[in-house]
Amino acid sequence: MASAVVIGGGLAGVAAAVLLGERGIATTLIEQESFLGGRAGAWSDTLSDGTNFQMERGFHAFFRQYYNLRSLLKRVDPALRMLRPVSDYPLLSPSGAMESFARLPKRSPFNVMELVRRSKTIRLLDFRHVNLKRAREMLAFDAARTYDAFDTMSAKAFLDGLNFPEDARRVLFDVFAHSFFNPEERYSAAELLAMFHYYFTQNPEGLLFDVMNEPFSTAFWNPMLDYLHSLGVSVQLSTTVLEVARSDGGFRVRARRGDSPLTFEAASVVLATSVPGLKKLVEHSAALSELRPSVGSLDVTSPFAVQRLWLDRKCWSYRPAFAGTTGFAGLDNISIYEQLESESRAWSERTGGSVVELHAYALPDGSDEETVKRRFLEGLHTFYPETKDAKILDQRFLMRQDCPSFAPGSFARRPTVTTPIENLVLAGDYVKLPFPSALMERATSSGFLAANHLLQRFSRPREPVRHGPLKGVFAALAS
Ligand SMILES: Cc1cc2nc3c(=O)[nH]c(=O)nc-3n(C[C@H](O)[C@H](O)[C@H](O)COP(=O)(O)OP(=O)(O)OC[C@H]3O[C@@H](n4cnc5c(N)ncnc54)[C@H](O)[C@@H]3O)c2cc1C
Repeated sequence: MASAVVIGGGLAGVAAAVLLGERGIATTLIEQESFLGGRAGAWSDTLSDGTNFQMERGFHAFFRQYYNLRSLLKRVDPALRMLRPVSDYPLLSPSGAMESFARLPKRSPFNVMELVRRSKTIRLLDFRHVNLKRAREMLAFDAARTYDAFDTMSAKAFLDGLNFPEDARRVLFDVFAHSFFNPEERYSAAELLAMFHYYFTQNPEGLLFDVMNEPFSTAFWNPMLDYLHSLGVSVQLSTTVLEVARSDGGFRVRARRGDSPLTFEAASVVLATSVPGLKKLVEHSAALSELRPSVGSLDVTSPFAVQRLWLDRKCWSYRPAFAGTTGFAGLDNISIYEQLESESRAWSERTGGSVVELHAYALPDGSDEETVKRRFLEGLHTFYPETKDAKILDQRFLMRQDCPSFAPGSFARRPTVTTPIENLVLAGDYVKLPFPSALMERATSSGFLAANHLLQRFSRPREPVRHGPLKGVFAALAS
């Protein structure tokens, strides 16, 4: 019988389960948490004033070239009313230097030329010192050549070698490099070039993005759970998979919910866990021993932290909904949540306060909560001084270390969707894909590709998978 067990209920696993369920494959989706969504999930919490709210792993930007993610979101909201555009995405630095990505041309190289022309951090004269051959690499991405030439180099070495003026480097590049959770010195230069290509130089939709105007749970995950049920997908929440073994019909998946052992049988398996979950499963499953070399090469990158603050007064009204920050160690961005989503807006209107979220990525290993929180507050007061006298009415803090590492030299052994084990595929935002992609879109696309591989084996129709340009505008000129 055509059947599948999908392990992991984040975007990758849900994307796979949706395609399989829609095409009549008997599908079981297993998630260890009590809610779907993984790193993009949301859970219920209560403020000290008694207000119920949805807490998330933090602010997420839904870029417009996330074609496969958008196709998944449309399953429950065909007009994508859950998303609304953010009109600008400024980058702030304590010295006042600021860049904006609004109103840039979408075509390359005009987008780069215009960004440089209007940048306050770089002048035409500075180009005398810039390494133009290296700068051209940002417009010349070609997966085969770029990974071959730059994967063993760190992003830091690449950016140092560009010789951009200090301020310009910080504002234009450091913020960008940090957005992928990896510290520059432990981030592959090829991966950074792929990200420039995907988000900026060859992004047909431009660098601006949309945000969800409700908490992720009410906008997407709750309707998605209903949709999965309507397809007949059996969703097993609060269930941890312990082992994947072989059986006569294909696979036997051993799991646990509370103290109860559970077993699921299926002809095929999608492993859609995060990197730590995958490594543990592979280690405990003799049937997955063929995956050990590639999965063993995966790792998590440095920790990140998110703090949400409920303040007793509003930030100045002209503050942007989201701003990247640079030049202040320990703070990468500030979001004003009442400008983003309905729940915070209602709280702000009722109390006259602000809901502010602070993020820090690629924190030093061993960072402690008190230091991170202190830096967050110092950063907030530096960039938005009107918050200095604000009283913190409530706060939530989380620090985790479960985002994938893209270390120099990791490309060659990075696993792909298909594996040496027949009818067992991988999905997640760490997987090597045949086109440039990242983060939520990489997770969703890998889920679609994983399901498509199984659907082909079950002789069922496959889902179209969309992606942007494979090569940069100057790829043909690079040698
Ligand atoms: C603070 C923060 C901000 C971000 N901002 C953005 C952004 O602005 N834009 C963007 O595109 N991306 C952003 N991301 C990245 C995005 O959240 C991830 O790329 C994406 O959600 C990853 O999805 P996934 O399905 O690959 O993995 P996950 O979401 O990690 O899903 C894996 C799931 O597997 C489950 N699991 C693990 N082991 C087991 C097991 N043994 N049994 C059962 N279940 C198991 C886990 O509980 C989890 O739910 C951000 C991430 C963070 C943390």
